[in-house]
Amino acid sequence: MRILLAEPRGFCAGVERAIEIVETALGRHGAPIYVHHDIVHNRQVVQSFRERGVVFVEEIRNVPPGAVLIFSAHGVAQAVRTEADGRRLLAIDATCPLVTKVHREATRFHAQGYEILLIGHRGHPEVVGTMGQLPAGAVHLIETEEDARAVRVRAPGRVAYLTQTTLNIDDVAGIIAVLRGRFPDLAGPTRDDICYATNNRQAAVKELSREADLVLVLGSPSSSNSNRLREVAQECGRRAMLIEGPEDLAPDAFDGVQTVAITAGASTPEVLVQRVVDHLRRRFGATVETRKVVDEKMHFPLPPEMQATGR
Ligand code: SF4
Repeated sequence: MRILLAEPRGFCAGVERAIEIVETALGRHGAPIYVHHDIVHNRQVVQSFRERGVVFVEEIRNVPPGAVLIFSAHGVAQAVRTEADGRRLLAIDATCPLVTKVHREATRFHAQGYEILLIGHRGHPEVVGTMGQLPAGAVHLIETEEDARAVRVRAPGRVAYLTQTTLNIDDVAGIIAVLRGRFPDLAGPTRDDICYATNNRQAAVKELSREADLVLVLGSPSSSNSNRLREVAQECGRRAMLIEGPEDLAPDAFDGVQTVAITAGASTPEVLVQRVVDHLRRRFGATVETRKVVDEKMHFPLPPEMQATGR
């Protein structure tokens, strides 16, 4: 058996930054500290922080007054910030800068009188946070091309679109094409808001899918970008599975498989990838080839208040 390891895969700059923020806060303030929603969508990352005294909450009212509260990488609605202020929490923002950019675009378009069409998945925390930058009713959620054909706006000449950062690039292109057909003056970001990490990981999985009989995507079921990687491989005509480790692999998963491509979502630690690689080496004597499809060197600095102050 041959393993093709996709590069880039796994942690993106936004996830690395969010994890570093929690680490720094733990070091500075000690446990317990509170995090609004899972800091990133990975079960193992969340569990290991939980064991060190991090408490994950969905409701701000469950955070004791005066405590340290971190907003997850997905971003939060303005109402959540206001509620945190009201409880005198020490709020630290781990929102990915690329999500913050979408929030700014939403605010700017709204201030310019545009009605906003947000392409994304209902209920995903990033979508909830982006919609929550503006008053209720200012943003229409578009999940499918059907939604794009059906959406009703007040002024068709004053419409802007934005997107969730972790979507399937090809699906989004189809939805934008429908919107442009209906609204020729459609405004929006220069390309779309799909982030560099989503773009790069999808490009790599497309490339490797050409050679593989099976594609394994390491990631949690709640991870949007991991689910999209599985979809992209399937759209390339490959069998693909989203797994969290070797224990998720059925005994017959490798029947007839010569070449396995392995990738990982942007919130998946590399140690989980290596567990699967080790498993396949032991079980099948698999060889490993790394395939770099895109060179990725992105880094996001910590918020100023979290940066080291020592000389
Ligand atoms: S997947 Fe993209 S938007 Fe999300 S945290 Fe990573 S870099 Fe930021």
